[in-house]
Amino acid sequence: IDFEHCGFPETLNQNLKKSGYEVPTPIQMQMIPVGLLGRDILASADTGSGKTAAFLLPVIIRALPEDKTPSALILTPTRELAIQIERQAKELMRGLPRMKTVLLVGGLPLPPQLYRLQQHVKVVIATPGRLLDIIEQSSVSLSGIKIVVVDEADTMLKMGFQQQVLDVLEHTPSDCQTVLVSATIPDSIDQLADQLLHNPVRIVT
Ligand code: AMP
Repeated sequence: IDFEHCGFPETLNQNLKKSGYEVPTPIQMQMIPVGLLGRDILASADTGSGKTAAFLLPVIIRALPEDKTPSALILTPTRELAIQIERQAKELMRGLPRMKTVLLVGGLPLPPQLYRLQQHVKVVIATPGRLLDIIEQSSVSLSGIKIVVVDEADTMLKMGFQQQVLDVLEHTPSDCQTVLVSATIPDSIDQLADQLLHNPVRIVT
């Protein structure tokens, strides 16, 4: 199996090739089809496994239709991780029409982030605190979100972001697809998954 036979838009296939992605990694093999089906996912996956592309490819496919408001939300615990995810997203989305990303992260000035938000962005990559600030100012609508990814959920909990994550997700549609990715799945993550996910597919690598 290789990416060329996944039925992705040709531009996306070319971007994958340019990035040197030919064969899906094991986590991608499992997460991409389930993600494309719209199912909720609880995945244990570590950095280096290819987990970022494993959730980005379904995000890109699901964000493609022409919405004026964002259709995908990726939550990460740190600014650095958000920047890495955006870099990969931009690589994969190059040349796809009307696909824009925005970074909404703490530690960087707010006005440029708010300005960018007004440019019909499809994919929001955010840390929970900054996103909540922006939600409270009514500067973003999450009502068109179709897919939410919570990346490094175990780090989120360790950093004390559980309530903020729950508060953010309160503002997304109740029927949207949710993907929870975590390096480890301790009981606390299972409990979070019970709160956030509907009938999830569990993926372990
Ligand atoms: P991640 O686990 O998401 O941090 O990805 C680790 C690295 O593997 C990143 O630099 C990706 O660009 C790269 N990568 C992800 N998927 C593939 C793939 N299918 N083939 C080759 N490289 C990949």
